[in-house]
Amino acid sequence: DLLVVGSANADLVIGVERRPAAGETVLGSDLAVHPGGKGANQAVAAARLGARTALLARVGDDAYGRLLLDSQRAAGVDTVGVLVGGAPTGVALITVDPSGDNSIVVSPGANGRLTPQDVRTAASLFQASRVVSAQLEIPLETVEETVRSLAPGSRFVLNPSPPRPLPTSLLAACDPLIVNEHEAKVLLGDTTVGDDPAHWARLLLARGPRSVVVTLGAEGALVASAQGVTHVPAVPVDAVDTTGAGDAFTAALAWRLGQGDELADAAAFAARVGAVAVTRAGAQDSYPTAAEVAAPGSG
Ligand code: ADP
Repeated sequence: DLLVVGSANADLVIGVERRPAAGETVLGSDLAVHPGGKGANQAVAAARLGARTALLARVGDDAYGRLLLDSQRAAGVDTVGVLVGGAPTGVALITVDPSGDNSIVVSPGANGRLTPQDVRTAASLFQASRVVSAQLEIPLETVEETVRSLAPGSRFVLNPSPPRPLPTSLLAACDPLIVNEHEAKVLLGDTTVGDDPAHWARLLLARGPRSVVVTLGAEGALVASAQGVTHVPAVPVDAVDTTGAGDAFTAALAWRLGQGDELADAAAFAARVGAVAVTRAGAQDSYPTAAEVAAPGSG
């Protein structure tokens, strides 16, 4: 039902008292290794909700690649589209200080080798998918080929992260384009856009997508389409760790659209999934099942 086309990374996390300056060495905590990357996160989030989900991605023929394949399979994701080899698995080297500020270096590795040809080779996955969800941690031409590969009548959801200017043809395919505040500002291209998210949503809609969702963290989200702009309230929770909340939100929304929900209803469900995700540590580890979303607080 849902096909996610995107990145898979190993997140290597070390806690430090102070993040190192140039030329400096600091000692940190034991290393923690977590499966991550926006594509892998979305696929796990959707599968855990009960969505029939496939991931089209590329990992290295190495231990981190096997870690990512294992975490996808454990969540129930179809991994026939996870290609192996060509470069080392993508890695994010993350240092976190006691205030929660981090410094991150990403090596895209195999994610950068996911090619338009890989997309064409996965034609059968596209035929089986009513919704296809992508992000920008893979080459832009691969995302553009993804749009060209959509089965008739299927829907394309894009979270443009990390944000960069997008070709008109790609924007026009998005239904919706899903951005957080930072991504909205970068796409709109600067400081002159003001600080009214409803205004950003209208400006983004004018760039061509059929619909736009702006996520606003604890403020919920805005949904914009030809019918206008509506606010979807957040579910009030005590946030512990917001890592990967946007990926869970996007996956949940994409799945519900494929199940026939209207955009505002899908976003309201996604906000409940995002709310559970922020009450737990980690990204993939924090994602709820459908039963946990139905009974908030039971996780
Ligand atoms: P990103 O992780 O991409 O920056 P957001 O922080 O906007 O995305 O979070 C995505 C969604 O997750 C929000 O629209 C909201 O529904 C939910 N969410 C995020 N943070 C909170 C929070 N502190 N309380 C409740 N819901 C939250």
